[in-house]
Amino acid sequence: MPAGRFLLTDQPVVPGMELVLPDDLAHQARDVLRLASGDTLRLLDGAGGEYPATITAMDRKRVMVRVGERVAGRADPTVRVVLCQGMLKAAKYEWVLQKGTELGVAAFVPLLCERAVAATEEASESKRRRWAKIVAEALEQCGGSRLPELAAPRPLMHALAGMPPGTVAMMPWEEAAARPLRAALLDAAAAAGGVASVSEVRLFIGPEGGFSPGEVALAARAGAIPVTLGPRILRAETAAIAAATLTLEALGALDAGPPAESPYTDKRDAIRHAQKLVRKHVPKDRSLVDELIAERRAEAERE
Ligand code: SAM
Repeated sequence: MPAGRFLLTDQPVVPGMELVLPDDLAHQARDVLRLASGDTLRLLDGAGGEYPATITAMDRKRVMVRVGERVAGRADPTVRVVLCQGMLKAAKYEWVLQKGTELGVAAFVPLLCERAVAATEEASESKRRRWAKIVAEALEQCGGSRLPELAAPRPLMHALAGMPPGTVAMMPWEEAAARPLRAALLDAAAAAGGVASVSEVRLFIGPEGGFSPGEVALAARAGAIPVTLGPRILRAETAAIAAATLTLEALGALDAGPPAESPYTDKRDAIRHAQKLVRKHVPKDRSLVDELIAERRAEAERE
């Protein structure tokens, strides 16, 4: 994965433009990743697009980049996986947001449930900003390019209502002698005409105290399929990530897929990057370094 992948959604990014990076990204590029003038990084628009950008100027005050053509980022899972999670304590929910984003979850919906320990109606502005930062960093790190949606906390009934056609709703329930998630999902997909006809899978995970029998009945009436995640009682955050992984795997979204596009603009850029790495990591004995570079340069000229 290219070193510098930065989400940039609060200012226009246009191919060919010279852009001064916001201070926090400039700090990341200059001081953390130690990129230099001529190096390339990636700007993500959070909507599936990525812009290779070459650093054209860098000093203590600013980092300037020239923006390249927009390219499609790594493919998102073809089926939207929506994680409806009974409200958890802050750190646990943030863990679910980070791991779920890495996996490719498309949307997170915190649920207000009867047995939720953290039954806060509103997610404060600062909490929402923190959630947004967590999913942004996870997206940059994992190679994804579409930001997951972060919904405001809502009652279970609301998350059950208005499910778009082609949605398969499943409720992992530890008390149910239910079918394993994968088998139930593939059966539901087959009944709907195959995986290709499933546009969304909505997963309902209970809070730490679990769903109440009334909530389970409500979900069943709304068509949610009770499923098991195995004989052991998983913590709510573990159950969320286990259910998302099993769902994405069953839908083929965890298959390797095509390799990511090269982070370098061309062969020369790749060589320059290699030279930098060699200089950084190979001992001062220049003969070896020069030999390597001469070899690569000769190869490039032969092309
Ligand atoms: N009700 C239990 C309790 O009172 O300790 C446990 C709830 S569990 C910690 C939280 C949520 O994780 C459950 O509501 C369910 O959605 C999910 N879960 C945990 N283990 C599960 C399993 N083996 N099968 C299905 N769902 C499970």
